[in-house]
Amino acid sequence: MSIQDFAELQLFITGPTFIRPEIREAGMLPEFGHRDSENNKRFGPIMSGLKQLAGAGENWRVIIFNGSGSNAMEATVRSLVADDETVLNVSVGAFGDLYHKMAVVNGKKAVQLKFAPGEAIDLAKLEAALVEHKPSCVTFTHNETSTGVMNDMKAVCALIRKHGALPLVDGVSIFGGAAIDLDNSGAATYATSTQKSLALPAGFGILFVNAEAIEKAKGVKNKGFATDIVAQLGRAEKSQTLTTPNTTLANQMAVQIDHIVTEEGIANRFARHLKMQGMVHEFVGSLPGFELLAPEGHRSPTVTAVRVPAGMTVAALKKVKEAMRAKGYLFDPGYGKLNTDLEEKGQRVLLRLGHMGDVTPDMLAAYLEALKPELLK
Ligand SMILES: *Cc1c(COP(=O)(O)O)cnc(C)c1O
Repeated sequence: MSIQDFAELQLFITGPTFIRPEIREAGMLPEFGHRDSENNKRFGPIMSGLKQLAGAGENWRVIIFNGSGSNAMEATVRSLVADDETVLNVSVGAFGDLYHKMAVVNGKKAVQLKFAPGEAIDLAKLEAALVEHKPSCVTFTHNETSTGVMNDMKAVCALIRKHGALPLVDGVSIFGGAAIDLDNSGAATYATSTQKSLALPAGFGILFVNAEAIEKAKGVKNKGFATDIVAQLGRAEKSQTLTTPNTTLANQMAVQIDHIVTEEGIANRFARHLKMQGMVHEFVGSLPGFELLAPEGHRSPTVTAVRVPAGMTVAALKKVKEAMRAKGYLFDPGYGKLNTDLEEKGQRVLLRLGHMGDVTPDMLAAYLEALKPELLK
């Protein structure tokens, strides 16, 4: 093996995402003891910065899980759905399906409400499902990474609450790239991870939990070990993790969260994402036969899925991927399983453009310029 063979590609996939040189360098900072006072110097500011980014006030606690966003999501299912209760898993794509799978494999009484790829949650259909199934908890995806569809979190949560259930939200691919306003969102839990819009290596799941979710979890049995949010909170209250964290990632995260909050500025970060979304929409509009998948009003600020022209195959997109590799980029030829399904049905397949994290408008412009001739070949 030779590490010279590890290619240096600029990532335009939807996670992991591009990591700034400063954050790579922060990977050289010293390891520390996770029960030592050095720990708090990292995780204290990390946790308070995350709450600022989320717009989360006094009513919220934040937990750092080892693993990734999935671990945080699974913990909500294990900790908040009691044995005699039903969880309704609303899906607009692959990651909504994932939340449902987590409920099923953990033995929960789970029902699924599914929408076609490219659709957002339809509130009338959601209301019918709430009436029919009377769930205690409802999971849904804020920003569906497989299709670039963003759901209206506030409206969906309000409807779920009208029917007396707790909204458990997957915000993995949008957190850090757009305003979340947790205090006014209606969510009871909100899960995310490090390797998407926060532009860090993967390694931690992040979960925001509000006071009512914490109260509910206290009464649920068999929450597992690392999936028990009450046990996790015991450590989180001390700015610690339940199990040994990746201290290298913690160092990088402390530097990155400080950069976001004090150097770039939270509002500027969100504005940069909106600017890049606009650039991508304009780019797609300039390509004959290409079309945005997500409907207007539900287009993600961090990832865009694009219908390619009829006749352009998955195999052709894989050739584009290799051509872009030769130019130093990692291109995303669409969510694999979804594209296989679409192709089998004779429907137009999708490519995806990630525009999240620390990618700059200049980097994105150069990428789109390099991509355009490959798509028009
Ligand atoms: C990536 C992603 C996940 C899975 O997160 P991991 O950090 O890979 O565990 C879940 N939901 C959404 C919307 C995602 O984009």
